[in-house]
Order: sequence, then C-alpha cells, then structure tokens
Amino acid sequence: MSKRRSVLALVAGTLSSSILLTGCLGNPPSRTGSASSSPIALNTQAASQLDTKSINLGFVPILEAAPLVVGVEKGFFAKHGLDVKLSKQASWSAARDNVVLGSAGGGIDGGQWQLPMPQMISEGALTNGKKVPMVVLAMLMSQGNGIAAANTVKDGNLSYDLKKSSPGFFQKFNQKEGRKFRAAYTFPKANQDIWIRYWLAAGGVNPNKDVELLTVPAPETLQGMKNGTMEAFSTGDPWPSRISRDNVGYLAATTAQIWKAHPEEYLAVRSDWVDKHPKAAVALLKGLIEAQMWLDKAENKDEAATILSSRKWYNVPLPVLQEALKGQYRIGPNGTPSTDPKMGPLYWNSDRGVISYPYKSLTLWFLVESLRWKFYPGTVDNIQEAQAINDRVTRDDLWLQAAKELGLPAKDIPTSPSRGKEVFFDGTIYDPTNPQAYLDSLKIKN
Ligand code: CA
Repeated sequence: MSKRRSVLALVAGTLSSSILLTGCLGNPPSRTGSASSSPIALNTQAASQLDTKSINLGFVPILEAAPLVVGVEKGFFAKHGLDVKLSKQASWSAARDNVVLGSAGGGIDGGQWQLPMPQMISEGALTNGKKVPMVVLAMLMSQGNGIAAANTVKDGNLSYDLKKSSPGFFQKFNQKEGRKFRAAYTFPKANQDIWIRYWLAAGGVNPNKDVELLTVPAPETLQGMKNGTMEAFSTGDPWPSRISRDNVGYLAATTAQIWKAHPEEYLAVRSDWVDKHPKAAVALLKGLIEAQMWLDKAENKDEAATILSSRKWYNVPLPVLQEALKGQYRIGPNGTPSTDPKMGPLYWNSDRGVISYPYKSLTLWFLVESLRWKFYPGTVDNIQEAQAINDRVTRDDLWLQAAKELGLPAKDIPTSPSRGKEVFFDGTIYDPTNPQAYLDSLKIKN
C-alpha cells in the first residue's frame, strides 16, 4: 500500500468510527458532517500573507466538486497558504441551510452551487426572506451532466432532440399509463430543473402540462429509477453513468449535446467572508484554477478518478468515475458508445475559452431562465431585475487577480465579462446583449 493510500485508509477509518461514536452517544449527526482538510502541509510562508488561513466549503459528490476535492488532495490550496475544509452536503437544501448558518454558526462559508441558488440566497428568495449576500467567484465545471431515462421508457427512444427521436411519445405515455410521465431533479428552480425544462420545451413538450416534475434526493437516484418513482432524471455524473452502467436505465441526453461548453455549477462564497478576507479569496481561486488545469489533462483523469472514488470522498466504483471523467458514455436505449472527451466534463479548456472564469453573460442566463419559468415572482420579474442581481452577485475581479498572480498566458484571461452569443442544439440563440429577444423567441414558457 502506498503511503498516500494508507493515509486515505486511515482517514476513512477515522471518519467511520467517529460517525459510529456519534451514533452511540445518541447525538444527531453534525449538520455539516466531518470536514476534510488537505493531507499536504500548508505553505506557511504563503499563509502568513493571508487574512485568514482556512475556509469551510460544502460539496455534493458529483463531478462538479472535483476541482475542490483535487485542490485539497493534491495540495493546490495548501500551496497558496489556505486550508480548505470540505464537508459533504446531504442535499442542496442542507447546503443552503448551512451557508445561512455560516462557519461561525457551525455551517459553511460557501462551496459548490447550482445556479441561481447563490443569487436567490442573496435575495432571500430561497431562505424565507432572509438575505445572505453571496458572490459567485468561478465556474467549477462545464458539461458532465445528463438526462437519464428508465428502461421502462426504452420504447420512447428518448434523445437530446425529442422532436426527431420521440414525436408524440409523452402524450402516448400519459394516455397509456393514466398518469403523467415523471421527470426528476435534485433541487427545484435551479440548474437541473432548468436543463430538463429546456430539453423538454425544445422538443415541443410543455414541462408544466405534459409531464410531472418532482424533486428526488441524489442518493435515491438509482433506487428511485428502479422502483419507478420517475421515468427521467436530470443530474450530474456519476449518476447518469451509474444508471446506464447498472442497466437501470439509459442516457437520453448529455447536457453537452444540448449546449456545448454550457455553464454548469459554480463556486460561490458568502460576501461577508470575501469582504473580510480578500487575500484568502484570491488564494482560494489560485488553488482552484490550478486544480482545474490539472483535472483537464488527459493523463490525470485516472488519478482523479482514484481520488474521487475513495470512501473519504464519493465512495463510487472506480470505473464509473474513470469513464465519466473521460467523457466515455453509452448513449440512447441501445447504449451506443461515445468516447469524445470534448463532450465530457470540462474543467479548464473549451472551444469557447476558459471554463473557470465567471462570465457574467453566462451567470445571467440562469436568471433569464428563472424569468422564463416565473420561478421567483417578486424577485426576478423582468430583465432589468435579473441584470441587477447578476451584477451584484457575480464578481470577476478576484478571478482576474488570481489569474494575474499565477502568471497565466493572455489567451487564458478573458477581456470581456461576456462570452458573446450562445447557440443551443435546436438553433435557439441567447444573445446576452438582448436577453429579451431570447425570451421572446422561446415558444414554451410561463
Ligand atoms: Ca449539475
């Protein structure tokens, strides 16, 4: 056993015994669970320059969190003097509750988020009116998400382009079953809900009328699909890959098929933490950027999969993560193999430039979609409100500072907060200079 593996095993052992002990004492498990720090010692010289030496971040064990985990395990944060403590969140609602508490209250300072959660937590729209201002600092990953469909709907031949693959299927299903087709996500009115709605609506299926949408916690994904809780599930890998690998269902669409190099999940932190610790925020971003660059390299994918698959982190079979990180999918009801890394998770490079930089044009899109579906009445009722919230919450100056301090080449440092026009698989265009035209062009909306 290598030294690193034995350290991992030791930590895993310590974790499970502490959980057992907590159970024996009859205490409720702590809200954030155990936080894991880097096995690599802090660079004390770098740490002495910072305004704080540590931050508590939440994560959900899907590919989007890989840069945070790799940043901790490979010592990228420690190198810049910051002890990043990661704690696994049982659900997205737990992450929200923990960020409202903040680390001073036993919660977290920030972490991995589906958009527009940080924007809506900032506005109080997800927190019973309690406003907890947050800042979006970087994109964690693009692509790597998908819509899985159950084997019971193999005859629907569901694909990313439902108009072509499955005309009339949903109406037929609803008539035959005497109930609506059920499609699930892990948290309502956020990213995964937005993907499934985009996908259905682009196929001429009205998500409000033709299907039933429901929230299912990620750990219940496999069992839920086996039990028939839902016919489709929109989530991050490794779940869609596990569903197809375990033959519980099939991968109907990857989000990369819907929108190449699309915005996915983000790093966001409480504003009060960032305002108090601007140097540590830059150190956090430097570590994150280096972790993303490392993760993006083909030669590191197997090591990344080994780290993530361990009990300490995701506790998911290694081959599932190896395939998911390399973009090796089996797509459609016949499981047609697809092995294009450009269609898999992207952490740094893409045909549209750097993934990590928090383009305001991309974070705005989630608010425009919120407007499309009237997710947050009273908070996001028009484009002007969406833009004002976006300007308050998305912050790129710290990212640019981190990029400069790392000495990144000019080609990797965006010169505009807009990535320009975006084109979806169905030909829809989102021009961030005219979001209203995008909204007007969409046929199905609230
Ligand atoms: Ca996701």
